[in-house]
Amino acid sequence: RAQAAPRYLDGLNPEQREAVETLDGPVLVLAGAGTGKTRVLTTRIAHILSLGKARPSEILAVTFTNKAAREMKLRIGSMVGEAVEGMPWLGTFHSIGVKILRRHAELVGLKSGFTILDTDDQIRLLKQHLSAANIDEKRWPARVLANLIDGWKNRGLTPSQVPAGEAASFANGRGQELYAAYQERLKTLNATDFGDLLLETIRLLREQPDVLRQYHHRFRYILVDEYQDTNVAQYMWLRLLAQRPQRNDLLADGSAAATPQRAETNLCCVGDDDQSIYGWRGAEVDNILRFDKDFPGAKVIRLERNYRSTGHILAAASHLIAYNEGRLGKTLRTEDELGEKVTVSGAWDSEEEARSVGEEIEQLQRKDHSLNQIAILVRASYQMREFEDRFITLGLPYRVIGGPRFYERAEIRDALAYLRAVNSSADDLAFERIINVPKRGLGDATVQWLHEHARQANMSMMDMAREVANTDELKPKPRQSLRDLMANFDRWAAQKDSLPHTELAEMILDESGYTDMWQKDRSADAAGRLDNLKELVRSMDEFENLQGFLEHISLVMDADRGEQVDSVSIMTLHSAKGLEFETVFLPGWEEGLFPSQRSLDEQGRAGLEEERRLAHVGLTRARRRAKIFFATNRRIHGMWTTNIPSRFLDELPEADVEVTEQKGGFSFSGYGASRFDRQESFGSSYTTPGWQRAQQRGGFSGGGYSGGSGSAPSGGRWQKTEIPDLPRPRKGPRT
Ligand code: ATP
Ligand code: MG
Repeated sequence: RAQAAPRYLDGLNPEQREAVETLDGPVLVLAGAGTGKTRVLTTRIAHILSLGKARPSEILAVTFTNKAAREMKLRIGSMVGEAVEGMPWLGTFHSIGVKILRRHAELVGLKSGFTILDTDDQIRLLKQHLSAANIDEKRWPARVLANLIDGWKNRGLTPSQVPAGEAASFANGRGQELYAAYQERLKTLNATDFGDLLLETIRLLREQPDVLRQYHHRFRYILVDEYQDTNVAQYMWLRLLAQRPQRNDLLADGSAAATPQRAETNLCCVGDDDQSIYGWRGAEVDNILRFDKDFPGAKVIRLERNYRSTGHILAAASHLIAYNEGRLGKTLRTEDELGEKVTVSGAWDSEEEARSVGEEIEQLQRKDHSLNQIAILVRASYQMREFEDRFITLGLPYRVIGGPRFYERAEIRDALAYLRAVNSSADDLAFERIINVPKRGLGDATVQWLHEHARQANMSMMDMAREVANTDELKPKPRQSLRDLMANFDRWAAQKDSLPHTELAEMILDESGYTDMWQKDRSADAAGRLDNLKELVRSMDEFENLQGFLEHISLVMDADRGEQVDSVSIMTLHSAKGLEFETVFLPGWEEGLFPSQRSLDEQGRAGLEEERRLAHVGLTRARRRAKIFFATNRRIHGMWTTNIPSRFLDELPEADVEVTEQKGGFSFSGYGASRFDRQESFGSSYTTPGWQRAQQRGGFSGGGYSGGSGSAPSGGRWQKTEIPDLPRPRKGPRT
């Protein structure tokens, strides 16, 4: 009896099906956004499992984020039924690296319980090394060294392999020596940093043929998503695992004879050169070009039908990316309807931008659109704050992907705990959180003691603290410390009703030593935390009193705890890779912000092209609606800047874009008005870094961008008529 094709193959187009069913030998799927690459990869795993070609533990599958790995696991499960009991080797390069390394830690000089340092730890460690080496940290910051070392690690370079010229660029040629010392130190601490998770695995696999053989034997199939963003180290890692030796070599361990197909490299990578957005972190699109060379006989499959976006969106995204020169080139088509045009709206400032986005979301909500299907994709994470603010005011549930929500950040929670404890002396949880923050000698033992006695006496911890502070039940030091703290709390509580609540908050943060704690902190993110605290106080302004503010916060914090709640996603463009939403908002399309001035200054044309790919990624996340915004005025790191609309707006095709009503003093001059050539403007911004920023700060007037770069279809659409030098006074910078 002929067997029916499995259900999961239903609906795949012929090319997709070929990619799923070509199980033996190397396969490269090179295709544009939304063409089903990830779906192919997922289905391929289901296919391997359902044919019994390998057990779940014999498949190595690499995704770009942990979240993507979890989703893939769920999908596979739903395709092949409950047969999949976990896929231990489905994860990111890093998570798989850790796993391999933990198993063989001793072989690379670590113990299996080694710790993984985060960036903060890394920088702290490097600071120690700089000071031990008598190097002036002001001149040669630890952060720069950390980036340098990360860069080397991304390229798979150990200290002895660093090219002499590059090592010379730090601290008069001491870069390499510092790198070596840092590595030594990590070993003594039984620690690795992020880069080591790959580098040490590479070393392990290179130096230990037995271990390598073990993994060759284990991984019958290897699959990689988002292949365009692999860096050199990841590529080396992959090649080591995927390039199985010829059958003769395998015969030595006796296992090959029974299963001769094991000599094949069953590697399948899927990617899109137009979505390579991690060049700044060492990703190399060239890995795609090298694939054929390293894995001879590779089958290259192209997918051309986009299943994600409606016609106008796809046309706009394709047109934009065509401005890039370094492309492999590919066609994309959709059989979907044209749908809604991509909209572009201008706003006076970022606050108005957030307000407009909020309004549009509420409109969608009234039409029964799910908030889960709405995303806001920002270029820089500081843009998020304004949206969070607005959504809290509106009571619109949201979540921040790839970082904590504003009110969930540690420093904000601490500050809120102080305010809550002042507001109510019965709030034990709040009190407990900050009793020893900053450190004031009230350690775990004291807290424990307070806890127990308060419970026995049926009173709050603060009340108990007040009582015991005047007895001799505690040792003198904590007793004094507690007495001081409670005196503070009493004083703050007494002023609660007379002082404006924002002033009260500032006073509490200062007098408690909390602000001071972060001011003294030398870690890299301390400044950001202080900024957040300022923002917190600023946001209290919108409420009548402390009570009202705290109630609002607790409602908001409560409302969308847990992922099930329908909520808008806010994230950076970088972390939106691979995802899709019905509606995508793309705020901040302004010169300097997007494309980012830093990319242009540091990497010139390559930087611009990477920014453009990022814009392409943003647009192609949208299924039915893509809504672009720009603001004339924006506060960046506390400074107001006046911005001109992004050149990317000029690169959108007129026929697929709708310019919505303009606010904030903008009018459109129509197409073709030209003041200066884009190429030229690019050139000068490159050779004279900061040129565009200077333009913006100087209250750029009367000019516009032209779309004059050869094939550009239009230009100068975003010309302004009137650009004020300063934003409205009420929004002026605080002094
Ligand atoms: P990206 O480059 O953004 O990562 P991708 O190429 O990985 O995109 P997928 O996310 O796999 O694309 O697919 C995009 C959308 O199209 C998904 O919703 C997917 O379910 C759908 N899709 C893919 N192939 C088909 C098909 N043959 N029939 C119907 N829908 C499909
Ligand atoms: Mg994908």
